[in-house]
Order: sequence, then structure tokens, then C-alpha cells
Amino acid sequence: MNTASLLILFLLSFSSAQQNQDSEIFAASRLLQEEEHAHEVHCSRERSRAAWKIIEEYLMPFVEKERYEISSKCRLHPDNDLFRDQEQHKIHLDINEWQCGYCKKSFRAEQFLDQHFDNRHYNLLNVSRSKCLADLCGALHCDAVMNTKSTKRKCNPAATARNHHLCEGLANSCFPTNQGPSARRLNELFLHQFCHAHTCSGKQKPFSRGGQKQIHVFYLAISILTLMLLPIFYVILYLHQREMREGTQELRRIPKVGQKKKPS
Ligand SMILES: [Zn+2]
Repeated sequence: MNTASLLILFLLSFSSAQQNQDSEIFAASRLLQEEEHAHEVHCSRERSRAAWKIIEEYLMPFVEKERYEISSKCRLHPDNDLFRDQEQHKIHLDINEWQCGYCKKSFRAEQFLDQHFDNRHYNLLNVSRSKCLADLCGALHCDAVMNTKSTKRKCNPAATARNHHLCEGLANSCFPTNQGPSARRLNELFLHQFCHAHTCSGKQKPFSRGGQKQIHVFYLAISILTLMLLPIFYVILYLHQREMREGTQELRRIPKVGQKKKPS
């Protein structure tokens, strides 16, 4: 081996070492970035989901009934939930099968899909403080729905006042009373549904005007009643028809008897 080839060999090994080092540095920086991103989102996915469920169940049916369009300035608007896009990319195939709508990877439970979103698709989150729906949980009574804390907890007057203030702010920014009768009606509904329960007296319950669930229960009751009454109706119909048939047979029999009587 001459000196030239030795030099080339040395250069090659040096460059590959450099490359390895570069890729290591790259991996490390990516890991750091991922960690930074993981720490950047100071918004609970679980509580955001609870808040969304409350909005969907106890507010949206009324908003739809009024055909009112919530402005994007309102923090309850779907665009202001930073997890909305990811939540809409959850595909629930079976009880134990959840699929990622972005990359089609499957998971056995929703929580693993949540982790996958946090690790792999964090770049899709539009991280902004004003877009954290979980921040509205105080006003929207998430704890009442999530059953995380005992409801028989001692009432904290300062926290209750703060939640009441946040709640009224939401009512006024989402349904400004100067924007027509539907906005006024929804403002009043919002106060009844969410804000009035923020007292330490415990007299008012949240969601007093009911929600979608109650409508479902109503329809369920009607369906069960119909299903129960349907066989009874058919039995009555059958008995009635049988009676009618017997009646006509008897009617047919009568002239026969008359015919028999004639020759005798
Ligand atoms: Zn994915």
C-alpha cells in the first residue's frame, strides 16, 4: 500500500466517523426537540375532551336549534380547540381497535393512540394558549362529568367566583346580547346551563336545561313503548279478524240451513 491509498483510507474512515457523529448529533437534537415539544403543550388532552363533550351535549343542540353561528372569536368554537383535528382523526374500528387517521397505525386502546399523537403528530398541533379548551373546564363543570373529584368537596368561594366570572365572559363573548334575539336567548341559556351553578349555596345544578342525552332517553322510551304496543295491536287485529271470519262463516251457514229446510 502506498501513501496515497493510505491517505484515502484515512480520509474515508474519518468522513464515516464524522457522518456517524453527525447523525448522532441530529438524532440527539431531534430527541431534544421532541422533548421540548412534549413539554410545550401545557394543555390536558383528557380535560379538553371532557370540555368538548360538554359543549357538544349541553350547548350545541340549542345552538343548532337556533341556527346560530358561533364566531371564531368565541373560545368554544371548534377551531379554538387545539386537539380537535387530532380527535377527528381517531378511527374507532372495534372495541379494542383504534386507528390513527394520519398514518393508519392501529392501537389497542384510545390512550395509546393519544400517546402516538403526542409522540408522532405533535407537529400538527397549533400550540397557542388561547386554544386550550381544558382551560375552560372550570366554567364548564368538567369535574362533574369526569367524576375525578368528589362532588361533596368543600366549596372554595374564591375559585367559585373566578369560575363564575369566566363563565359569564364566555356567555358574553360567544352570544353577545346585542346580536339579535337568538344570541340573546342563547346567552340566557348559557347562564342557566353553566354559570348559575357556580355558587357555594349548592342550590343550582349545572346543565339544568338538559342536553342531547335526555332527548335520546325520550326517543328510547318512545321506541320501547312502540315495540311493546305493536304485538298487542297485532293480537287485537288478529282476534278481530278471526271474529269477523267466524261471523261470515255463520252467515254462510244460515242460508245453507235455509236451503236444507226448503225441500223438507
Ligand atoms: Zn399516526
